[in-house]
Amino acid sequence: MSDTHLRKIIGILLLACLPAGLLFAAGSDRRPDSLTLQLQWKHEFQFAGYYAAIEKGYYKEVGLNVRLREASESENPIDAVVQGKAPYGTSTVSLLYWQHKPKDLVVLASIFQHSARSIVVNEKSGINHIDDLKNGRIALQPHCLELDAMLRTEGVKLKASQMNFSPDVFKQFLDGRLDAISCYSTNEPTFFEDAGISYRLFNPSMSGIDFYGDLLFTTKDYLLANPEQVANFRAASLKGWKYALSHSDELIDLIYDKYSQGHTKMQLKEEAEHMMPLIMPNLVEIGYSNPDRWENIIRLSQNLGLLDPSVHLKGWLYSDYEQSLNIPWKILGIIVFILFFAFVLLTIYYRINRKLRSEIKSRQHVQEALTTSNQQYQELNSTLEERIRQRTSELAKTNENLLMEVEVRSKAEREMNKARQEAEKANVAKSEFLSRMSHELRTPMNSILGFAQLLEMGDLNASQKRSVGNIIRSGRHLLELINEVLDISRIESGRLALSLESVKVSEIVHETTDVVRPQLTGKGIRLEMPEPDDAEMFVHADRQRLKQVLLNLLNNAVKYNRQEGQISIRSQTKRNTLGKEVVRISVADTGFGIAPADLDLIFTPFERIGADKTDVEGSGLGLAVVKKLTDAMGGNIGVESVLNEGSTFWLEFPKDERPLTRKENTAFLDDKSETDNIQTGVVLYVEDNAANIELVEQVIAHQRPNFRLIAHKTGKQTLDLVLKHRPNLILLDMNLPDIHGLDVLRQLKEDERTVSIPVMVISADAMPNQLARAYQAGAWKYLTKPLDVSELLKSIDEIIPPGLTEMTGAHKDDL
Ligand code: ADP
Repeated sequence: MSDTHLRKIIGILLLACLPAGLLFAAGSDRRPDSLTLQLQWKHEFQFAGYYAAIEKGYYKEVGLNVRLREASESENPIDAVVQGKAPYGTSTVSLLYWQHKPKDLVVLASIFQHSARSIVVNEKSGINHIDDLKNGRIALQPHCLELDAMLRTEGVKLKASQMNFSPDVFKQFLDGRLDAISCYSTNEPTFFEDAGISYRLFNPSMSGIDFYGDLLFTTKDYLLANPEQVANFRAASLKGWKYALSHSDELIDLIYDKYSQGHTKMQLKEEAEHMMPLIMPNLVEIGYSNPDRWENIIRLSQNLGLLDPSVHLKGWLYSDYEQSLNIPWKILGIIVFILFFAFVLLTIYYRINRKLRSEIKSRQHVQEALTTSNQQYQELNSTLEERIRQRTSELAKTNENLLMEVEVRSKAEREMNKARQEAEKANVAKSEFLSRMSHELRTPMNSILGFAQLLEMGDLNASQKRSVGNIIRSGRHLLELINEVLDISRIESGRLALSLESVKVSEIVHETTDVVRPQLTGKGIRLEMPEPDDAEMFVHADRQRLKQVLLNLLNNAVKYNRQEGQISIRSQTKRNTLGKEVVRISVADTGFGIAPADLDLIFTPFERIGADKTDVEGSGLGLAVVKKLTDAMGGNIGVESVLNEGSTFWLEFPKDERPLTRKENTAFLDDKSETDNIQTGVVLYVEDNAANIELVEQVIAHQRPNFRLIAHKTGKQTLDLVLKHRPNLILLDMNLPDIHGLDVLRQLKEDERTVSIPVMVISADAMPNQLARAYQAGAWKYLTKPLDVSELLKSIDEIIPPGLTEMTGAHKDDL
């Protein structure tokens, strides 16, 4: 049981005790009940017990204030009780005559065990035997049951007149006018003795009638209505009687002093003495009623025809009620309290029980729910386990498949890697092949074109000039083809090396237009270059490749232009479709134009869209290379064309704000001030190929005859030669027989005595990485074979301006 329950129960018990406590309090504090005891006759010792109870406070002890009411001649004391004038009364067995008429009466105590009623007879009357009464002058008190029983038993039938008992019968008896009267044997005979009358007593006991004497009684109704009071009154009265019988003198004084002096103390004393054998206090408990004796009295009286048959013992004696009704209120209170307490406990028990039952019920529900959910959980668990098993086996299968797939893929990958490695190898081999081919083709082409150019510069007749011209043109065409095939193959193999930087647009435009300008005159084409908005325009691109692209477009604009046509080159800044700032360089011609259907084809390799049927030379690779290079540099290319009116090719590159110049140029420009001081015009050429040496010799001899050329075939002595001859310019081949050209270059650049002398590499190796390495080692310029003579001259002139050099002849050294 929880603390809360315990506290509740204690609270309820305290509440339960409250009414019981109140009950007790009411019992102890209540005011005394005032009640009246109707005496059978006047005050005398006959009622000594009641005086004692009053005097000794026995009534008070039980909350009673008892008043004694004397009988009067005009009123029967029994009637006084029946009529409610007093709740209690004293009487004799004659009381049986009043039973059920109209009230039921109850004997509370039988004080006199034997009746004091007698018939006193004057001895002088001649009545010697009871039977003689029939004819005597007698006055008997009516309704004296014991006397009536005696007379009936004796067969004495009296006249009604003989039963005329008036208050002055005593006097008449004393006067001798009556022979016999009924009397009380305890006190009245003393009067007769005192009066000198000889008398004889007919006592009922003499006829075998031994009825009870004085009784204490009440009505049944009163008893049922006031059981506690009746019980208290009875007990206090009997207690008074006990006291009175053992303190008769004290009582005599009391009666005499307080109640009545109708009797002398002596008379009272005699009365007390006469009462003792009738009460028998030493033998019978005061007030005791023997039911059997009473039963006999009633039966005898009924047998004698004195009592109505309806009279019976049941309900006559107090003992009949004592057990059922005469329960002390305190006991009743305790019983009520116990019952109430039991009720409270039962209620608590019931409530707790109900609560427990509902709790048990709810727990059962929870238990059931738990069981159900447990079952569901187990089902779910087993389902899950099954699913997990299935999934695991599926995963295992998938894993197996995956492993197989991984195996297959890794195999495929291995094969792919192998294939790629082989492809890469093949590519490398192809590149190497192309590089070698290029080198091998360029070297003879160098001689062919170089000497053809020299021839052209010499004194030739018209037909010789045409022939040389054809050689040069065809050689260039072939060279161009080789270059383009190389470019395409490099781009496609992803080996195109780009050096993206800030490139000044106007510079590129001028450099390229300078190249094509000689071609314009033949066709009478006008070149137009409107001044750009911004002369300091830069793009982010690879300088060489951008130049190559623009040159290609310009070449086409010349080739596919009409006689007396026009070419205009514009550069302008604009925003592309993505909103990014770009520089657009457009090359517009007034040539054949391109049909709209062919516009998509012109960038396809070897696609000439009918130009091959014309006498315009070409390979169909130019625009393909242009497109691929432009894309690779992050630029865009496009064309707009109207057939027979002309075409406009445009390039767009991201605009670059940073005006950077090439380091090599800077170095060159810085060094130029130093070279400006060299007035010798000496050129050192380190080259192992005799044809190449001869070509350069001839170029110098014919074109710059005042220069001195020093040629040397191996690389190792280069540094010494340089220190010895202090050349203005060093021309260096890469493929030397004893040492690689790059090492020679590094030696020169590492030595502070030679570091400032520009070195121009002339090599058939046109591979970008080779160029990069050379520039990295400090080369000023890199010319590829076959040599473009005019480019060579132009480069030489950049270092040794013709006007400033010492006029010296060509000189061979160490050949
Ligand atoms: P090709 O070596 O034939 O010039 P390109 O790749 O440079 O090859 O050009 C592809 C084709 O595009 C040319 O053959 C020509 O028919 C056409 N084409 C190129 N540029 C022009 C132009 N400016 N005007 C007209 N047609 C052109």
